[in-house]
Amino acid sequence: MKLSQRIEAIEGSKTARFIPLMAELRQKGRQVISLAIGEPEFDTPDPVIEATKRALDRQATRYSEIPGLPVLREALAERFEGAGAQNIVVFNGSKQALHTIFQAICDPGDEVILPIPCWVSFTEQVKMAGGRPVLVPTRDHQLDVDAMAAAITGRTRVILINSPNNPTGALYPRKDLERIARLAVRHDLILVADEAYDFFVYDGAVCTSLYDLAEIRDRVIVTRSFSKHYAMTGFRLGYAVAPIPVANAMIRLHSHTTGNVCTFAQYGALAALSMDETLLVQRRAELERKRDLAVAQIADVFPCVRPQGAFYLFPNVSGHLKPGETSGDFAARILEQTGVAVVPGEDFGLDGYVRICFAAPETQLLEAFKRIREVL
Ligand code: GLU
Repeated sequence: MKLSQRIEAIEGSKTARFIPLMAELRQKGRQVISLAIGEPEFDTPDPVIEATKRALDRQATRYSEIPGLPVLREALAERFEGAGAQNIVVFNGSKQALHTIFQAICDPGDEVILPIPCWVSFTEQVKMAGGRPVLVPTRDHQLDVDAMAAAITGRTRVILINSPNNPTGALYPRKDLERIARLAVRHDLILVADEAYDFFVYDGAVCTSLYDLAEIRDRVIVTRSFSKHYAMTGFRLGYAVAPIPVANAMIRLHSHTTGNVCTFAQYGALAALSMDETLLVQRRAELERKRDLAVAQIADVFPCVRPQGAFYLFPNVSGHLKPGETSGDFAARILEQTGVAVVPGEDFGLDGYVRICFAAPETQLLEAFKRIREVL
C-alpha cells in the first residue's frame, strides 16, 4: 500500500534498533546485557507508586483536562520563575512534547539547527513537521557557537539545545548559552531546550537552563521529563514550558491526538514533585559513582570525553573499526560476539562512536566491560 511521503521520509527510533537481535540471542540462550536504551535501573519511588494506586482506588480513571491536571500544572509552574499553569502542557513523555513543539512552530522548509551528535528523534520529528534539520558539528562534544551562527539562514526558525546532552553527557556552560541567546534575538529565532536530564549533573556542576536567561523567555520552550529522574519511563510523563501562544497551540494539537495524559499517572507525577530532593541527590551520587566506574573501565579500550551529566558514555571507537565498518556494523558485531548492546554513534549523527548507558546495574556494567575488553 502507498504510504504518505511524510512517513516514508522518517525512520523508526534507533534507540530500539537492536531489540530484535537481542531477543534472538536471548532465545538462543545467550546472556544479553543491554546498555542501549537510556533507562535507569532505579525503582520508581514509593510515594509515586502509592499516589498512583490511591488515584486508581478513587477511580481517577476518567478524562482529565487536556493540558494536564490543573494541580499538576500549577506545581510544575512553581519551578519556573514567572510562569503560571497556563505556560505548562503535560505530555506522554517529553518525546511527545518535542514532537508537538515542532508541529506547532515549523512550517514546510523551516530550518532547525541541531548540534550533533543529537538524540535520534529530533531529526525525524523536525522532518515530520515539514522542517529541515540542519546538523552542526560540535567540538569535543561542546557547542561550536561560531559554526552554529554560520549555519543560520533566512529560513532558520529554531535552534535546539539539549543539555546535559544525550548521547554525549556534555553540559553546556552558561557563557555559550548566552551567546546562543544573543543569536536568537538577533535572528528572531525560537530556542527549544530539551532538559530531560537537568538534575543528573556531576562533580558539583550546575545545569544552566535556557529558562534561566530571563531576557529571552518569550522565545524559549523547555521540555523536561519524569522518566529519568524519578525512574518513571513507563508512566510516559513529560511536559513543556512555553510562551502562552505556543502552549495554546500545543494544547490545540493535543486535543486531537491523545487528549489528556493518563489521569492516574498524573497523580503519580504530582507525588514525585512533592518529594524532597533527598532521593534524587542519592541517585545522582550513585550515577556519578557509576560514571566514574564506567569511565575507568573503558579508559584503556576507547578514548572518551568524561560526561558531565545524563547517564551515557560516548567513546570514540574508530580505532577498533575494521576496514569499511561503520559504528552500526561495529555495535552489531559487539552484540553478536559479546551479548552487549550499545547504540551506534551514526544513529546520533556521528559515526565512529557508540553510546553506552551506564545507568544499568553495576554487576551488568562490570560484566559488559569485561566482555568488550576481552573481545577487543
Ligand atoms: N531517551 C532514551 C534514549 O535515548 C529513551 C529511548 C528513546 O525515547 O529514544 O535511550
